[in-house]
Amino acid sequence: MWEKEFNLTDRNSFGFNVKAENYTAITQIDTLESALADIAENNWPLLILGGGSNLILRQYIPGAVISIANMGIKVLADDEDLAIVEVGAGENWHNFIGHLLEMGLHGLENLALIPGNVGAAPVQNIGAYGVELADCFHSLTAYDRQTRSLVQLSRDECDFGYRDSIFKSAEQGRYIIWNVRFKLSSVFVPRLDYKALADYVLGEVLGDASGDALGQDSKTPTAHDVYKAVCDIRSSKLPVPTEIGNAGSFFENPVVAEKQYFELKDQYPNLVGHKDSAGLYKLAAGWLIDQAGWKGYVHAGVGVYDKQALVLVNRGKGTVDELTELSEMIFDSVKSKFGISLCVEPRFYPA
Ligand code: FAD
Ligand code: NAP
Repeated sequence: MWEKEFNLTDRNSFGFNVKAENYTAITQIDTLESALADIAENNWPLLILGGGSNLILRQYIPGAVISIANMGIKVLADDEDLAIVEVGAGENWHNFIGHLLEMGLHGLENLALIPGNVGAAPVQNIGAYGVELADCFHSLTAYDRQTRSLVQLSRDECDFGYRDSIFKSAEQGRYIIWNVRFKLSSVFVPRLDYKALADYVLGEVLGDASGDALGQDSKTPTAHDVYKAVCDIRSSKLPVPTEIGNAGSFFENPVVAEKQYFELKDQYPNLVGHKDSAGLYKLAAGWLIDQAGWKGYVHAGVGVYDKQALVLVNRGKGTVDELTELSEMIFDSVKSKFGISLCVEPRFYPA
């Protein structure tokens, strides 16, 4: 079952040269159980690997790496407007979104083109353009390593937060997500809270330069229009991992109290921040890093992407050590300029 010294260079989106001591891809629950028995017997540490797009893998991964390759998309229930769709953890997220579009099931269009697999999507409650996975989440099935059984977890039990869930925080390592169920609608309601997305849908997709396309006599964007807009904007701003290694946003957006937000806003009138439902302010980490002068910066084999300062990139032969040095320099400079401590979003493994 185990492949020894398995090369993971094309299995991590930073494209770092990485080897796993033992690797296997799993498609059946009974094989997963025997793999876990081997792991217990050998006392191996375990990494569950999806598409490797939110991980920074170090050069050698001791113990075991398991890739969950459970596939399939099926409609479990379908009444007038709502459908419950179950999808295997091994399916590619973006392909799944494309499939839903073809099926006429809506709610996740704003999350198109996010790299990675379905099984990892609940881990950080993936989000983009004002929509997050939790908005359409129904439940999931996971293998519980503590009770050694398959369990169903509801939305509440996953305790989703802003780019967070029990799988990333309180219960990291306990559950192996096997499939995920979504509640989707056959009626499309566009979610255009993000100005960049709304502008693009109105101007580029619906072709209304006056920006009045959503007015009374206007055309209404279709699900396909929004999907296309999200794909176009993302393609113009973000590096494609197979061409330029990266893990998307390298830092989380910091959330600060109202007082701190207004103190910073007095000093930096162009500060980008958005009030959340708890009355706190989410600052755009990319803006802070850009203002601190890092956009396009090169450090040995790694650097800061020149179109989006929140994305750190592998320039070809970069290493995890170089990336760590660069992220520490950015952390220090943002801290000293704005008094804000940034937190790294992807997970370093081994920690
Ligand atoms: P991996 O990186 O393989 O794993 C991530 C974590 O999940 C690890 O801790 C892993 O152990 C765990 N995990 C993986 N599979 C399972 C499973 N079956 N069961 C339990 N744990 C599991 N994220 C966003 O939220 N929004 C974005 O808009 C976004 N844009 C991105 C753009 C780019 C260019 C890139 C490179 C990344 C972006 N990301 C974004 C981050 C990333 O794509 C998501 O976090 C994605 O869900 C990670 O999926 P993955 O399969 O690659 O997970
Ligand atoms: P952007 O549109 O330039 O916006 C900058 C920041 O402002 C984003 O971080 C976003 O927060 C916030 N924002 C913008 N409009 C908002 C609104 N109406 N309400 C609340 N917050 C608002 O961001 P971008 O860098 O081009 O990314 C576009 C989207 O893709 C974002 O949602 C981003 O999270 C997502 N993305 C995520 C990753 C990742 O790896 N996590 C990578 C690439 C893109 P949010 O980040 O909370 O949305």
